[in-house]
Amino acid sequence: MAILYAAEQEGANALFQFLTREEPGVQIDTWPNVGSIGQIEFAVVGGELAVDLRQFPALRAIQSTWAGVNALLQSPNLPPGVPVARMVAHEMTGWMTEYVVFHVLDIFRQGGQLRAAQASHSWIEEDSLHRKPRIGILGLGVLGRLVADRLSQLGFSVSGWTRGRGGVSYAPSVGLVSFLAGSDILVCLLPLTEETNGFLNDRLFSVLPAGASIIQVGRGAQMVEADLLGHLNSGHLSQAVIDVFAEEPLPTSHAFWKHPHITVTPHVAAISRAGMGATLILDNYRRTKTGKPLLYEVDRARGY
Ligand code: NAP
Repeated sequence: MAILYAAEQEGANALFQFLTREEPGVQIDTWPNVGSIGQIEFAVVGGELAVDLRQFPALRAIQSTWAGVNALLQSPNLPPGVPVARMVAHEMTGWMTEYVVFHVLDIFRQGGQLRAAQASHSWIEEDSLHRKPRIGILGLGVLGRLVADRLSQLGFSVSGWTRGRGGVSYAPSVGLVSFLAGSDILVCLLPLTEETNGFLNDRLFSVLPAGASIIQVGRGAQMVEADLLGHLNSGHLSQAVIDVFAEEPLPTSHAFWKHPHITVTPHVAAISRAGMGATLILDNYRRTKTGKPLLYEVDRARGY
């Protein structure tokens, strides 16, 4: 049973060393140097499929090195019926939590206003401390729940919105409109699916309370960028922190770069590196060998 590796080069050597130490004799073929096409049973791939996986007749499982599998699931190179697992690694979940907590605190403690005041040598009073913003999290999966836990520990009131898979601790008992109306800072941690494409739009922004802020760390296609600009320019929304964009890299002429109320980060909230998810890759390789279901298998029909 051979592994095909067709993902990022960065971190790959550490991953290969780990796998050969834990599974002596394991055969790892790095695309395009494949020994025997018929022996490949497990594939490790990146966010987008650089190789046509339909050419491997014995392929039994596919492990992504990315948490978001929207591009992978759309690829014509993905063979139907082969289970796909997404990446969940503690480094990645830690980075995402830090990113969101950092920006929530920066918004709450008026970091932008204080930096602008320093630039103009102005001594201003910080006047945000009387009330902590209410946090609304779209998507309470692996990442959304951890972020919700951390923010709750810091004393923020947190609610969440999910499709309804069981056991969600922050699910609001109210509908989407009430959830949005009670979100002073809205964090998007949704996967990109047909349902969530364009979800952050004029209608949704209109329901947020006046002065609300957005932290968008899901996927770029979820947000109608012109609608966000409209609500920031009208003053209805006060700030946006955006890590993911309709087009990446964000074009140099894009209005977001210079907007005074937008913080742009280059899709770095939580970075995928192959070496990072080594334990999950090994677990899922062993599960495939013994015929067990994959950990973090995605529902291909649902899209996440
Ligand atoms: P996950 O565990 O699959 O969780 C997804 C959550 O979204 C689940 O709670 C799910 O609801 C909910 N959901 C899906 N469709 C929905 C809909 N139409 N309406 C309401 N809720 C919906 O995913 P994750 O590991 O937390 O990752 C979430 C996303 O973060 C990824 O898909 C990726 O796009 C993004 N991400 C970004 C970065 C970055 O660097 N910016 C890094 C990693 C991940 P149920 O619980 O009901 O199924």
